[in-house]
Amino acid sequence: MKNVSLTIDGQKITARAGEKILWAALANDIYIPNLCAIKEKPEPNASCRLCFVEVEGEAEPVTACTHEVNDGMVVNTRGEKALRLARAGFELLMASHPVDCAHCTANGDCELQKIARHLKVSLKTKRLRLLLHNLPIDDSNPLFTYDPNKCVLCGRCIWACRQDVKSGVFGFAHRGFERVMTTFGDEPIGSDRCLNCSRCVEACPTGALTFKDERKS
Ligand code: SF4
Ligand code: SF4
Repeated sequence: MKNVSLTIDGQKITARAGEKILWAALANDIYIPNLCAIKEKPEPNASCRLCFVEVEGEAEPVTACTHEVNDGMVVNTRGEKALRLARAGFELLMASHPVDCAHCTANGDCELQKIARHLKVSLKTKRLRLLLHNLPIDDSNPLFTYDPNKCVLCGRCIWACRQDVKSGVFGFAHRGFERVMTTFGDEPIGSDRCLNCSRCVEACPTGALTFKDERKS
């Protein structure tokens, strides 16, 4: 397929025509915050609202996971308008997240920490009231633990389980604030449906799905 040339943050790059800005940027080591983006998925979820960028000629920032590259396009991932939108999205997300990194298995390898650093914001929101879910932790699987309170509803585990392993242990349930990533029929994760392949844990960007043998004391 044809390639196009574009500029992101002053860096000239080439990308496949039709490629989304997000994947073109990441392939060239230009980080754009994202949680729900899955490269192999034909239609992006565009639900986490973190990957805003500014494109020359566009009046408003666009989401990099949905916007395709064009020849001669000029993209700015650091524009104030885009950063403001991304920070607002992140703050909203963290308003229901129990931040306790010191006791979290994901500490140091958590996408939320990376995004906070990138956006130069705190993990703990100061403007919004903290509204926690206080859901029970599922410890039934011998290899890993699911803490739904740390889930950011990105859908990566669902995709990994369905597409990579052709199993369907996980899915989303409920709407709005009640929305939760759960198992089919609300069964414990340690049920027979799970093949214990751990692809879901590897796909999880936060401390929601974590290996037991990596647990911190
Ligand atoms: S999931 Fe990430 S942000 Fe949340 S407590 Fe764990 S390390 Fe901290
Ligand atoms: S458990 Fe992890 S991978 Fe699955 S939806 Fe939640 S944050 Fe995403």
